[in-house]
Amino acid sequence: MDIAPIFNTSKRPILIAGPCSAETEAQVLATARDLAAQGIDLFRAGIWKPRTRPDTFEGVGEAGLPWLASVKRETGLKVCTEAATGDHVEKALAAGIDVLWIGARTSANPFSVQEVADALAGVDIPVMVKNPVNPDLKLWLGAVERLYNSGIRRMAMIHRGFSYYGETQYRNAPRWQIPIELKRLLPDVQLICDNSHICGRRDSLLEVAQKAMDLNYDGLMTEVHPAPDSAWSDAMQQITPVQYKGLLEMLVLRKPSSDDPEFLAYIEQHRHQIDEIDEELIHLLARRMHLAEEIGGLKRKKEIAILQTQRWNEVLEKGLLLGRQYGLSEGFMTALLKTIHQESINHQAFVMNEAQEKKAGE
Ligand code: PEP
Ligand code: MN
Repeated sequence: MDIAPIFNTSKRPILIAGPCSAETEAQVLATARDLAAQGIDLFRAGIWKPRTRPDTFEGVGEAGLPWLASVKRETGLKVCTEAATGDHVEKALAAGIDVLWIGARTSANPFSVQEVADALAGVDIPVMVKNPVNPDLKLWLGAVERLYNSGIRRMAMIHRGFSYYGETQYRNAPRWQIPIELKRLLPDVQLICDNSHICGRRDSLLEVAQKAMDLNYDGLMTEVHPAPDSAWSDAMQQITPVQYKGLLEMLVLRKPSSDDPEFLAYIEQHRHQIDEIDEELIHLLARRMHLAEEIGGLKRKKEIAILQTQRWNEVLEKGLLLGRQYGLSEGFMTALLKTIHQESINHQAFVMNEAQEKKAGE
């Protein structure tokens, strides 16, 4: 796919801001004026809102489109909104919306994405594709491909985090490795971090925006509202224009790279060491699996079950304790040990099945 950028590539970060939802013309215009004064690149406001529950505010609908046209006229800002159906697309295009975005619930649904893509066939408008709610990179890429196949060339990706069952400090778990992999596959595509929907609350907006900048994201999409506490949707995560200004002032922008030879030599040397360690880790893992296979063979002879819960508990506890001593987070150690344990079980099961098959063949 040969995807073209939406925004002027030399500016970093690209700033997209505006309220979660357009509520009234006055609210939309007041926010836009403040944000225009701060030099943002694109004004956002949701007109059609996909809400989790049916008895909540679902957006003002097409009545809000002329308000966005007023924003363009009065402030000169370009405007964007979410389109989830062919009807939304038609109405947004007729109202002169500059950029569309595909929401996280829509990009998770190939039927909906196809409907939007069909409505966009032959139209040259930039589209921003939010990650699907489920942590599935292929689904995200599939949405991009559907739009591409309809002729959409100017696209950007918005990372807004992923649904997560259970406790997390975020409203939507960022799972940074997914957008990092997306960027590896589509290196020229512009990547925007929607820190508002990742955080779900105000106090961590800066931390997530900073992380995105450190990972070399191109821009930020942030929800800004004149009176966040009384916003009709996503009240907890919206900030005032003044708070937004403060957040931008706190951001530290590091350069993506440097041509300083001393710096490059230093990095190179450290990367070399990291590569060696990775290789060593793989050798060690292979040795561990080999030992697991030998135990599998013995268990088979003695007819003992593979999973020994008590032993697994010991391995986990010991590993977590050691990890803690080295400053490795509990989340990381648990995930690592679980993955290693599962692979060991697979190796043991393989030895057992092989023996069984041999027996059956005799
Ligand atoms: C939004 O941007 O307000 C929105 C509904 O986002 P998402 O699709 O990421 O939930
Ligand atoms: Mn929102």
